[in-house]
Amino acid sequence: MTFESLGLHQQVLKALADAGYTEPTPVQQQAIPAAIEGRDLLVSSQTGSGKTAAFMLPSLHKFASAPAEASEGKTPNQQAQAARARGERPRFAAAQPKMLVLTPTRELALQVTTATEKYSTQMRRVKAVSILGGMPYPKQMQLLARNPEILVATPGRLIDHMESGKIDFSKLEILVLDEADRMLDMGFIDDIELIVSRTPETRQTMLFSATLDGMVGNMARRITRDPQLIQVAGSSTKHENIQQRVHFVDDLLHKNRLLDHLLRDTAIDQAVVFTATKRDADSIADRLNIAGFAAAALHGDMHQGARNRTLNALRRGQVRVLVATDVAARGIDVPGITHVFNFDLPKFAEDYVHRIGRTGRAGRNGIAVSLVNHAEGVHIKRIERFTKQSIPVDVIAGFEPKKAAAPRSRPGWKPGDNRGRNGAKPGQRTFAKPGGAPRREGSGRDAGFRGQRDGRRDGDRG
Ligand code: AMP
Repeated sequence: MTFESLGLHQQVLKALADAGYTEPTPVQQQAIPAAIEGRDLLVSSQTGSGKTAAFMLPSLHKFASAPAEASEGKTPNQQAQAARARGERPRFAAAQPKMLVLTPTRELALQVTTATEKYSTQMRRVKAVSILGGMPYPKQMQLLARNPEILVATPGRLIDHMESGKIDFSKLEILVLDEADRMLDMGFIDDIELIVSRTPETRQTMLFSATLDGMVGNMARRITRDPQLIQVAGSSTKHENIQQRVHFVDDLLHKNRLLDHLLRDTAIDQAVVFTATKRDADSIADRLNIAGFAAAALHGDMHQGARNRTLNALRRGQVRVLVATDVAARGIDVPGITHVFNFDLPKFAEDYVHRIGRTGRAGRNGIAVSLVNHAEGVHIKRIERFTKQSIPVDVIAGFEPKKAAAPRSRPGWKPGDNRGRNGAKPGQRTFAKPGGAPRREGSGRDAGFRGQRDGRRDGDRG
């Protein structure tokens, strides 16, 4: 299948060729033709699946195909000049975007904007801007004054501008909710409902989410019309290109020693180390820097400018080890990230999937290593049940845990389900004993696991 066969406009096809995209990903193959038809979409897919292009390419196609309107090209600034020329007092004209993309985090919004710029290089009429919390107001006013066709925004800041009359959605044609499940987890439901209520009923709505169950499904039903359901369960959602493993540790000292050892692996191009708290992200980044690693922290307490600098340094390869919290690192798409380390396990299995997805981007392979206290064995078991994949235990000579790993029960999969990458069979997996000798696991069931998160934790709203 080619992008040409999906019916995209020449200007979009040229930009894709320049970007080196040869073949649409599975989610793009399904979403693009339906979106070009004008259908509403409900898409379950993960980051890394190519979902940004799945909603942006058909939207750009639509803008490229539309005849230029006579009134177009008049930015709020030009309208003010025209008013002055007529001897009238210029009134501020609100920006009237044609497309709005809502994202849970600033980083994701910036990535969507960057991707949009890449896909629209051949289209002079299309401008995309990000409206984000943490960005100075005067700068955002300047961006809105250019009357961009495409706004990419986090909900909180967008509402500020909407309420003060700087944005008018009456011309909106396309609304995208990107990572809708995460926006709801972060408590944005009322904000989203308010924003949607200000957009025309005639809009096309595309909702992307890791899951379409529960609250997301309810909201999706309210805001879409006869949507096409697209569920893509490919290798990128199962992360089959990412080799996962667990190392058991006795205590913090053991964990720190093991992390330092693992980070010396020459196979690492760049790595992300996940911590449970912002304070740990800072202190581990400091410690690693002293130990000679080019490390930097990334978390929700940092100013936007500092976060952008860190992300740019990561993209340029100047940062080799990023030490980050969940929300701050969500959506980061840097192909050089070969390894993900869970210094602390995430509280929710769903976050584990998002974390390890920072590696193995754009079809590459990746390695995800979790450093786990014996008491946390139960969390690994929950993650295995959520992902329906086994995670083999590894032991490195000189770093053997003193205590035996706690027995783990068998994740609730059926025979024939996915096997662990390292050949472990369901119900027959091996676990490390002190000294690295394997033993059989016991059986049993773990109850009461919630795969979903129940709130935001990183103060990263808007
Ligand atoms: P996303 O899921 O939108 O975060 O995209 C994941 C990564 O895949 C990004 O780096 C995209 O630039 C890249 N990508 C998306 N679609 C394609 C494609 N059809 N061919 C090659 N790379 C792609």
